[in-house]
Amino acid sequence: MKAIFDERQLKHNPERYFRRGAYIPHPEQPERAVLIRDMLLKNGFEIEPPLDHGEEPIKAVHDPDYVDFWKDAYVRWREAAGDAEPIPTYHPGRRAGRRSSSIYGQLGWYATDTSVPLTENTWEAIYWSAQTAVETAHRVVTGDRMVYGLCRPPGHHAMSNGANGFCFFNNAAVAAQVLRQEYGKVAVFDIDTHTGNGTLDIFYERGDVFLCSLHVDPDIYPTYYLGYADETGEGPGKGATLNLTLQPGATEAAILHRFREGVQAIQDFGTEALVISLGFDMARDDPLSEVGMTGTGFETMAREIVRMGLPTALIQEGGYLGPSLSNNAEIFLTASRDELSKTD
Ligand SMILES: [Zn+2]
Repeated sequence: MKAIFDERQLKHNPERYFRRGAYIPHPEQPERAVLIRDMLLKNGFEIEPPLDHGEEPIKAVHDPDYVDFWKDAYVRWREAAGDAEPIPTYHPGRRAGRRSSSIYGQLGWYATDTSVPLTENTWEAIYWSAQTAVETAHRVVTGDRMVYGLCRPPGHHAMSNGANGFCFFNNAAVAAQVLRQEYGKVAVFDIDTHTGNGTLDIFYERGDVFLCSLHVDPDIYPTYYLGYADETGEGPGKGATLNLTLQPGATEAAILHRFREGVQAIQDFGTEALVISLGFDMARDDPLSEVGMTGTGFETMAREIVRMGLPTALIQEGGYLGPSLSNNAEIFLTASRDELSKTD
């Protein structure tokens, strides 16, 4: 199994953000990807950088003005605000109004919370994280059964026109759209502990991409606003969204039970190719976790995903700097490789 990663993805380095009324150190650090990269090398995974596939695959799932905004947003902010931190404070209300020409207005227009601070090289990092997703999906389209994209910054909270939850470009959605060039029915299975609210936003009215998101109940846990069980898609997408919610404190057995509901639903959809939004933040020692996954559970998931028998792009999402991040990634990816070797 190949892995895709570009060192430029490390260049987004947010220091802190505003959460629950206080500044806290930002959990989405470059070190996350460094730990996983080094684990891959230790385990003999071949890591290749992506080719530059351009902006078109990103703009296939995001509004073009949203993508273009990030290119010079940092420079514009510095010109306007000097040394002040590029964290938005003006957001549209429920009646969104119109986009202002001011960087202060535009940053709030395009970033829907304070967790996506701009850094000097954010554009470069998010662009190459998305290219890693494109390359991963391309490799699957051209015949690799399973490929791992070490995407960082993560992507599954990014909406068609809004950054939030540490995410700017929706790497999983980009990958799914690339797979659609070859396969008629694609599914995204999101096993990060948070709702794949951005992926839901992008595909909610589409019947050709099935989204199953397994996450802690948004009524009491971020992302709060989307991911409820009665959100099942609209229009041609009716029935092509499945939100499987967990309660805080959910045991590994309870998580795996819901996970298998997702596997079944993805098979029932007639899925021809699969994207896994692969978060490790269900781990019981993850700093953001409220549920009880261990390495054993991640191994079970990995093996059952491989046994679905589908061409699969693994796209890295969350999983933060707890003691087991690298270990859980190692367990998941080596188990996947082992299970794949049985099907050769
Ligand atoms: Zn997460």
